[in-house]
Amino acid sequence: MLERFADLRVCRQRWAGHRRPGSTHVVEVAGVPIGAGVPVVIAGPCAVESLDQTLTIARAVKAAGASLLRGGSHKPRTSPYDFQGLGTEALEILKEVRRLTGLGFVTEAMDPRLVEQVAGCADMLQIGSRSMHNVPLLKEAGQAGLPVLLKRGWSATVHEWLCAAEYIAQAGNDKVVLCERGIRTSCSGDYARNVLDLNVLAPLRTITPLPVLVDPSHAAGTAELVPPLARAALAAGADGLLVEVTASEKMRAHAQCDPLQGILPDALGTIVAYAAGAESAGSRGFATRRS
Ligand code: PEP
Ligand code: MN
Repeated sequence: MLERFADLRVCRQRWAGHRRPGSTHVVEVAGVPIGAGVPVVIAGPCAVESLDQTLTIARAVKAAGASLLRGGSHKPRTSPYDFQGLGTEALEILKEVRRLTGLGFVTEAMDPRLVEQVAGCADMLQIGSRSMHNVPLLKEAGQAGLPVLLKRGWSATVHEWLCAAEYIAQAGNDKVVLCERGIRTSCSGDYARNVLDLNVLAPLRTITPLPVLVDPSHAAGTAELVPPLARAALAAGADGLLVEVTASEKMRAHAQCDPLQGILPDALGTIVAYAAGAESAGSRGFATRRS
């Protein structure tokens, strides 16, 4: 029988004082364990735009020391007039880039009808912020059996987020990793795109064993904000990061999706080095699951 991911009763109540029993639920993606105490960095372009763009970024991501590649094949854009992703062509590109670099990849499925196709290619299925409440999609992702990266809806409570994880589990898949990506507040769109809710990490640790990644890119909206948010997330005990990367200023100028928030490879290298050091913070019992 599948383990329940959370004490949902506690979710509804004040979390303080509760202690989650047991160890972290480790989820392995293409041989990379997430939640095992060593922070994992997943990095890559917002959207797959061409083989050349994705391969160039993937090589930079690998050289910087990140463990897995990200890249959107089907993009959930706010405006229907914006680039929607290359779809099936992007999946083929990601498979080729995996063959050439050895990096496993995560990509988003937005539509339950696409889950089977995406799951047949990817190493991890992403459910985006806009889709967190899509119950048919959650059930389909559960049936697919592939590890799922479940992003938090930008106004979702912890209870709603963990119930979404439960839908995936109920359908037969316990390989779920949560991802905080910023929430909407009155400041959204002012100095940053969203507000990165690092408050949520400690309560999550008390009520669920699921690993939690943090995506500083979609919270920040601009590249300069990403490194400090990434360090803060790791210091607060995140199990890893999901980061958008571009390979050069020239590539940024041509990006069709989220051009301002992609960091350059050098900045990614600094973040990966910081993440490697964050493990020693964990071994001192500082703000991690082992504390
Ligand atoms: C993404 O990670 O590609 C993405 C679209 O993020 P979010 O769903 O958090 O907006
Ligand atoms: Mn993006």
